[in-house]
Amino acid sequence: MKEFIENMPKVELHMHVEGSMEAENLWKLAHKNHYEIEYNSIDELKAAYQFNNLTEFIDMYMLGTRVIKSEQDLYDVCMTYFEKCVEQNIRHTEVHCDIRTYVDYGFPADFVINALHAAFIDAEKRYGITGGFMPCFIRHLGNEIAQKDLDLLLPFKDKILAIGLSAVEVGFPPSLFKDTFKKVHDAGIKVIAHAGEEAPADYIWSAIKDINVARIDHGIRCLEDEKLVNYLVETQIPLTVCPYSNVALKIFDNMSQHVLPIMLEKGLNVSIHSDDPAHFNGYLTENMISIAENTSIDKAGIIKMAHNAINGSFASQKRKKELSKELVNYIKK
Ligand SMILES: [Zn+2]
Repeated sequence: MKEFIENMPKVELHMHVEGSMEAENLWKLAHKNHYEIEYNSIDELKAAYQFNNLTEFIDMYMLGTRVIKSEQDLYDVCMTYFEKCVEQNIRHTEVHCDIRTYVDYGFPADFVINALHAAFIDAEKRYGITGGFMPCFIRHLGNEIAQKDLDLLLPFKDKILAIGLSAVEVGFPPSLFKDTFKKVHDAGIKVIAHAGEEAPADYIWSAIKDINVARIDHGIRCLEDEKLVNYLVETQIPLTVCPYSNVALKIFDNMSQHVLPIMLEKGLNVSIHSDDPAHFNGYLTENMISIAENTSIDKAGIIKMAHNAINGSFASQKRKKELSKELVNYIKK
């Protein structure tokens, strides 16, 4: 099973770009850019990556953004992730990012856009990996900032796959951003949102009713609302589940308690993703293996979710067919 998962062609739909920055890379970038960090050695930094709560995680994530000082730096972070994709046989990936952090640091809006756009072009040329990126509004900064971010993003709408909603969930339901996401839809851009990881099922309803999402990041707490489960089964809105993230953020005490088997059983359109693999100690392959080893999900379940990830992606129909064919051929072998 482990080997089967390792070699299986995969699609990733939920991964934040700076969340792939390993301690070693952060350390190197800090030194290259003469950015002083509070850790005296790489081992100290690595130890701090083993955080105990959400605040510590966010602090470390933000430190990763602060050591990035040029488009080239961010491009390099992306390319390191793509090398990992090659190792893990990730064939298509849709990456979350935000422009606000770097705009607040004084960089122009196209800083993130240019770096990720260039990286995706090179990933396809070099490795045949397809995909794209999805800027997210940082929800705890509020709707006014989201409006400003949207104005900055609109000139680049042809370069992005979708616009999302991420960061601190509780207290910031999608309904707060209703008018901004109406403009996103009016511009012909797809909408996604983190909902129902830390906050309750209401937030998933809000993502559906108030901002009309094409896909939900996490969504695990939908199980608390039977009507919502029925709606999600009927509409087959994809839910991008991130097992290591859920355990690291203490949504579940350990992997064996994860609700993914129940979600799959109910017919929800779930698939497995890594969220912030460097911080949560596992990339896509490790997440899948851990679910297979610690829950009742078997090979058929893993395959079903691999198909769900392909179908739930924003790839073209032609690319989806290619990815499906590759997966089917692999299973046959
Ligand atoms: Zn996420």
